[in-house]
Amino acid sequence: TTLRQPKPKWLRVKLPTGKKYTELRGLVDKYDLHTICTSGSCPNMGECWGEGTATFMILGNTCTRSCGFCGVKTGRPDTVEWEEPEKVARSIKIMKIKHAVVTSVDRDDLKDGGSIIWAETVKAIRRANPETTLETLIPDFQLIHRNIDRIIEVAPEVVSHNVETVRRLTREVRIQAKYDRSLAVLKYLKDQGMRRTKSGIMLGLGELEEEVIQTMQDLADVNVDIVTIGQYLQPSKKHLPVKEFITPEQFDKYREIGLKMGFRHVESGALVRSSYHAHKHIN
Ligand code: SF4
Ligand code: SF4
Repeated sequence: TTLRQPKPKWLRVKLPTGKKYTELRGLVDKYDLHTICTSGSCPNMGECWGEGTATFMILGNTCTRSCGFCGVKTGRPDTVEWEEPEKVARSIKIMKIKHAVVTSVDRDDLKDGGSIIWAETVKAIRRANPETTLETLIPDFQLIHRNIDRIIEVAPEVVSHNVETVRRLTREVRIQAKYDRSLAVLKYLKDQGMRRTKSGIMLGLGELEEEVIQTMQDLADVNVDIVTIGQYLQPSKKHLPVKEFITPEQFDKYREIGLKMGFRHVESGALVRSSYHAHKHIN
């Protein structure tokens, strides 16, 4: 069944405001900068930008995968742009971003999975913005260690990889991914000494409470430090339907359960996105 009722009141968001937001919005328009925050019209822009956090996507706009929840288009990806790392670094400088989240489409077409551009991007950001802290929200790189190692070598303050949903729904929600492979990526990152690892799930796809708790436990078992839990919203009619709107009380319950499991941070709420409150997660 598909939910046809209007969105509950806790999902209706105010338009972003604030001095810093307005200023950044102006720069983004003037210099034609690309952030996920604007392209996905994220509800948290006022808050995140006000705190100096923004998310940037690299390796093009076309993904080799076709996850049922994701608004990014699938197809033959763009050719690799070697100037991209410098461009992202410059955007971060212009926007005076204090904490940058970098993510990418999946590049299963490339032998290195895009990991060389990934590492170059982190280095370029650091050169141009020595004070800026970084979170890299990475793909699974098909668990190819030499590709993941390129991320580990540049040691971002936080490395995240999202499992996105519970084990049972993984096939339906992210067809080319594997739940255990994602857990293995997170385990590998921690085993190789990454200080902060992070993962996220979306709710409202038909998962049961006990499955959500089990997913948190699976993440705790591979020593993930930070978990984000948010409401799934359908990007278009072609995407997976929303099965349920999770109540604020239920999100609170998951936060409490997660904190008892020992996570350093649990961001749990309807409007939580993977990069919400990201600047807090370096500590
Ligand atoms: Fe941007 Fe992420 Fe914040 Fe949304 S939650 S505004 S995508 S940094
Ligand atoms: Fe979207 Fe990432 Fe899935 Fe590609 S791999 S379709 S970018 S969620």
